[in-house]
Amino acid sequence: MKAIDRNQHLESLSDSEKTWDIIIIGGGATGLGTALDAANRGYQTLLLEQADLANGTSSRSTKLVHGGVRYLAQGNISLVREALRERGLMLKNASHLVKNLSFIIPCYSWFDIIYYSIGLAAYDLLAGRLSLGKTKRISRKEVIKRLPGINAMGLKGGVVYHDGQFDDARLAVNLAQTCLEQGATVLNYIKVTGLSKSGTKISGVVARDMETGKTWHLKAKVVVNATGVFVDDILQLDSPGSRPLIKPSQGVHVVLERMFMASEDAVMIPRTDDGRVLFAVPWHDKLVIGTTDTPLNEHSLEPVALESEIAFILKTAAAYLKHSPTRNDVLSVFAGLRPLAAPNDRSSVTKEISRSHQVLVADSGLISVIGGKWTTYRQMAEDTLEKAIAVAGLEPVCCKTAELPVHGHRRESDWNDHLYVYGSDREKVLELINEQADWAKKLHPNYPYLRAEVIWAVRHEMAQTVEDILARRVRLLFVDARAAIAASSITAQMMARELGRDENWQNQQVARFTELANNYLLQP
Ligand SMILES: Cc1cc2nc3c(=O)[nH]c(=O)nc-3n(C[C@H](O)[C@H](O)[C@H](O)COP(=O)(O)OP(=O)(O)OC[C@H]3O[C@@H](n4cnc5c(N)ncnc54)[C@H](O)[C@@H]3O)c2cc1C
Repeated sequence: MKAIDRNQHLESLSDSEKTWDIIIIGGGATGLGTALDAANRGYQTLLLEQADLANGTSSRSTKLVHGGVRYLAQGNISLVREALRERGLMLKNASHLVKNLSFIIPCYSWFDIIYYSIGLAAYDLLAGRLSLGKTKRISRKEVIKRLPGINAMGLKGGVVYHDGQFDDARLAVNLAQTCLEQGATVLNYIKVTGLSKSGTKISGVVARDMETGKTWHLKAKVVVNATGVFVDDILQLDSPGSRPLIKPSQGVHVVLERMFMASEDAVMIPRTDDGRVLFAVPWHDKLVIGTTDTPLNEHSLEPVALESEIAFILKTAAAYLKHSPTRNDVLSVFAGLRPLAAPNDRSSVTKEISRSHQVLVADSGLISVIGGKWTTYRQMAEDTLEKAIAVAGLEPVCCKTAELPVHGHRRESDWNDHLYVYGSDREKVLELINEQADWAKKLHPNYPYLRAEVIWAVRHEMAQTVEDILARRVRLLFVDARAAIAASSITAQMMARELGRDENWQNQQVARFTELANNYLLQP
């Protein structure tokens, strides 16, 4: 497989005569989905991401591909129906990364057993033939057998239902690869710093290379703002002083050893003390617990978990687990920001703010996509493209992404082999070891990640920094932040050799990564 030549893609920006059909700002789920749809329809497509692919919210989700049981309880049937359909498409088109997972709701009252059995039967019905398995009631004894870590005091029984689970950042990387295969240009570490206009209409963007500072003026028939919680920053470039469209809401997860709930099933707590939903999900052989919903007035690429959010998760988990987790048990804590559509009345209650997406067209023709979920990225992209075609007067072409397999797609996966995330590339990753036997060694003695994965990520997955590798190509930062810090030195050394960087670069990378990873660690 030919390596991705970033310089060649950068060169395509230097053609000052070129007019792209569409420029997309933002390389998260929304931007990548839109770039894929555009390229697949045959449009000249450029996607620019200021940091790494999925550096923002798209690597910090609960990792669920779901209709959203909670939205069903809120009566938002159309959102649930749409997400269930998209769940089915993700399972079909990215089957190497998305799997069917059973969730158990432990019930401590008879009423809850009946209530959730009926509610989830409706969820199955809405999924129709895309249902991943029938909801059923299980006895107290079976709940304890399937969830050995559950607090059995007062337990009456449980309800089992099915949803999807995935690796968010890995899917983003595979979407970027699919975009490239479809003819798009995708570049990370290029920030859009300005918008150019012809009269009152957007005619392109000003973009800056975040490493070299080089700047380009790029022309486009239409520009899409898919920057998640940064949407308002781009809108300010278009129309200074415009009303904010986004209300960020922070969600935090803590990661524990799997032994806190040694189970193949996930746990869903449908109603926490403050009326939220909490999941405890097995992921990469650990247990991910979350999330919170904290309205914020600021946004950044590296949001930090609040002490109150960590305390809330640990306290709620302690009520449902046999062994109460403490701060010392937390292997990693990560925070993400939901780009929720701001309510008009400036209410700060984010639980009630719409989770469905909106595609908005400014007077200048700038298209902004806001809200939504990872699960619905493809539909969001389709809706955005329809608007883009109309705004730019592009020759209409139908959307075909519902039938488009994502790079790496393969029917059968061995979920116990950590290399499953590479799908059809798995064997090619292993072949690298023929080039250098040393690459068969692990990055960290306690984890299966191989040195060959670093080389693969640099050559084929656009990884530029140690963080790109340890946070989003292999997920060690999210799984165990201390182990990630320990692995940073060898990762930097290997990357430096592969990218032709010097020792100074290596040291800087390790220092930068260590500083970042400390935010994923809890002080006792
Ligand atoms: C805690 C939490 C849990 C969630 N769990 C789930 C879940 O389990 N399942 C699910 O379906 N959904 C989930 N979601 C929702 C889902 O993660 C988001 O809807 C989705 O990731 C948003 O993607 P995005 O591309 O819109 O935003 P982002 O991923 O934030 O991407 C925007 C990108 O734009 C880039 N950018 C910003 N400004 C510029 C600029 N000037 N130039 C270039 N690039 C720029 C940023 O660097 C960023 O990478 C969750 C969200 C949160 C916060």
